[in-house]
Amino acid sequence: MARLRHIAVLASGGDSPGMNAATRAVVRTAIAGGAQITGIMRGYSGLVAGEFRALDARSVSNVIQTGGTILKTSRCEEFLRPEGRAKAAARLRDAGIEGLIAIGGDGTFRGLHALASEHGVAVIGVPGTIDNDVFGTDATIGFDTAANTALESIDKIRDTAASHDRIFFIEVMGRRCGALALAVGVAGGAEVILVPEVPVDLASVCGVLEEGRRRGKTSYIIVVAEGAYEGGAQAVAQAVKDRLGISYRVSVIGHIQRGGSPTAFDRTLATRLGRAAVDAILGGETDRMVGVTCGEVALVPLPDTWEKKKPVDLDLLKLTTIMSS
Ligand code: ADP
Repeated sequence: MARLRHIAVLASGGDSPGMNAATRAVVRTAIAGGAQITGIMRGYSGLVAGEFRALDARSVSNVIQTGGTILKTSRCEEFLRPEGRAKAAARLRDAGIEGLIAIGGDGTFRGLHALASEHGVAVIGVPGTIDNDVFGTDATIGFDTAANTALESIDKIRDTAASHDRIFFIEVMGRRCGALALAVGVAGGAEVILVPEVPVDLASVCGVLEEGRRRGKTSYIIVVAEGAYEGGAQAVAQAVKDRLGISYRVSVIGHIQRGGSPTAFDRTLATRLGRAAVDAILGGETDRMVGVTCGEVALVPLPDTWEKKKPVDLDLLKLTTIMSS
């Protein structure tokens, strides 16, 4: 197969810190490899609409340290349908683009796989999501930054919790995956961490609070992944209050977890994966995601990224039980 001469890059789904570092790496590696590189604005929406921009090395100057995505991102209903993907494939063909690199999460990869299967476009996915819920990579771009942002908030809330002898329920992002809650819960010294992967046992949460009280504990941090309990942290807190009659405070950290300057870890990960994506696509690979496993860059078939379940480290929950004594 002839080496590709013209490729494109887009960001899709939820933004995550480090998407710009990945875009920069894609652009500069493509140029170094002698390929033309086009930026597609607003994810699959911009692909279907033909919002293309020629990129050069200067287009990605001064973005390695920025959050969000200079390419903008979106969710695109039309791309869920074969007609939408046919339009997208025609746009690529008309622009002479032979390969597409998409930075996003598992939804983005489903779309990418469909585009490759139906229209033979060469595609490579780069995992960018704060959820770290993608199989085939130890870390996704943005997770480390989001964890550190949430941790900073938890540390601040802890000051108040300790000063006022309060129980705080802190909600972090994670509708289907508890990786973020586990990471920040352990690092933030939470007494309890609730994740979607383990059904919430209210009796055991109450047990931790009562046992702690007997041992002289006066303040608690309970980290709740938003999808761990119907109604989130507010609902768990109310359910615990109904049982124990204690007062509590709830803090929902919210969207600040998605933004901000990427950490050194995320910038490095993004740079490595962006480069690997271009090397893969120019080298004739397609329908793969680039990931990092045990420190090594690896290619994973796109369907594996959503069909195989990435296990969360439940040993961290056991650790929490010991640490909260
Ligand atoms: P993420 O990539 O962060 O998981 P989404 O789940 O919102 O974000 O997916 C981003 C976009 O990918 C969707 O708006 C849609 O255009 C496309 N997409 C998601 N799932 C599919 C699918 N099953 N088939 C085709 N396209 C999809």
